[in-house]
Amino acid sequence: MGSIRKTLLPAPQARSFEWSISCAHRKIGSIISIFSELPLDAAVRRGVEDLHYTDPTPIQRKAIPVALTGRDVFASAPTGSGKTAAFCIPTLQKLLERRANRSSALILTPTRELAQQIAENLRQLAKHTKLRITPIYGGVAMKPQINAMRRGTDVIVATPGRLIDLMQQGEARLDNVEILVLDEADRTLDMGFLPAVKRIIAKLPADRQTLCFSATLADAVLQLSREFLRDPVRISLAPATPVATVTQWVYEVEPHKKTDLLVDLLKDGRIFNALVFTRTKSRAERVAGALMRNSVDVGRIHGDRSQGQRSHALEAFKKGRYRVLVATDVAARGIDINDLGHVINYDVPAEPTDYIHRIGRTARAQKTGDAITFVSRDEAGSFARIESAIGTPLKRSEHGFMEPVSARASTVEPQLRRRSFQRRRRR
Ligand code: AMP
Repeated sequence: MGSIRKTLLPAPQARSFEWSISCAHRKIGSIISIFSELPLDAAVRRGVEDLHYTDPTPIQRKAIPVALTGRDVFASAPTGSGKTAAFCIPTLQKLLERRANRSSALILTPTRELAQQIAENLRQLAKHTKLRITPIYGGVAMKPQINAMRRGTDVIVATPGRLIDLMQQGEARLDNVEILVLDEADRTLDMGFLPAVKRIIAKLPADRQTLCFSATLADAVLQLSREFLRDPVRISLAPATPVATVTQWVYEVEPHKKTDLLVDLLKDGRIFNALVFTRTKSRAERVAGALMRNSVDVGRIHGDRSQGQRSHALEAFKKGRYRVLVATDVAARGIDINDLGHVINYDVPAEPTDYIHRIGRTARAQKTGDAITFVSRDEAGSFARIESAIGTPLKRSEHGFMEPVSARASTVEPQLRRRSFQRRRRR
């Protein structure tokens, strides 16, 4: 381990969110400070209370009141900022108001995990209503989804590919969709879904409300918003940066020593649980195998695993049955894991935005977390681009965060902390 050099990257210095709202009518969407200020149906209000959301997050404060007026919204919001509720709450409210028209809503999102997660969040928020939520995504049997569509649904939460399949079979009725949500629009476009999204939108009524959320304001997303949104109220966060509560650490390491370093860090009980990102599916398999051989409970999520296996791995990790989840970038966006202490970039991500998304899996909802990146010599260029994109002057430090565990004595404290973590999970 002697050749491993550790470099401290300080969290962006209190870079606070800079929000701006521009709208034609000044009165629109006055910002709220508590949920009870919102004119919500009692059933939706109870759903919010059940989730113990008392204070709205910044994106909720600004987006919900505007969306409730019926205006289109184009919002950039960082990962983990609470944007799911920012579009789910007004969507449910609007559907209840328009119930007589039997209108419905469509939420498009890029990955299966996000579709599951949004549908779950919606079900919790809609628990006291009679609204029906239907997730539609690939990798699982189509029949139950077709049956759910036939029974009728109020909100479809879909990935574009499977929805197109159902449309082609005449099983997805979209002519009564009055609210369209484009979630993670930049990622959706990056994944090549633009043609599918256009085909879907072409089937929706022109007279609808559209809420578009994106982590970045990439040109393609701006183009999409110009094409499909009507005079939207813009709510923007500039620039996209990691949340300030993530502490970032960098280890410069020879490529062949990455696994040793990971195992060594995991032997240090200060890491209760970690989401480990690799560049490719085969590397994810290899890293997971090495961890298993070192008696670490580990799950894997990547494109070669079936949807059932991916869902099972994520659930087991959330419940604390796995201490480590090794994943490719398929898990980088939006996945919500309570109490995730560490994100470890075993490989440097290709793009700065991927870095921001990966490390945003920790320190969600104003909690704190650590992100550790292993940088080998051949990844130095990519990492330099990430540093320049997040605009953080690098303060290199010889004082490492984690010395190799062999150099340390105590193992008692980690066990205690792990137990208290498990207690928290059970609660
Ligand atoms: P999201 O960015 O939508 O994935 O949300 C990130 C996390 O914040 C999730 O665990 C949400 O349940 C949680 N969350 C969202 N809104 C609030 C709120 N107003 N108060 C507390 N937690 C929230």
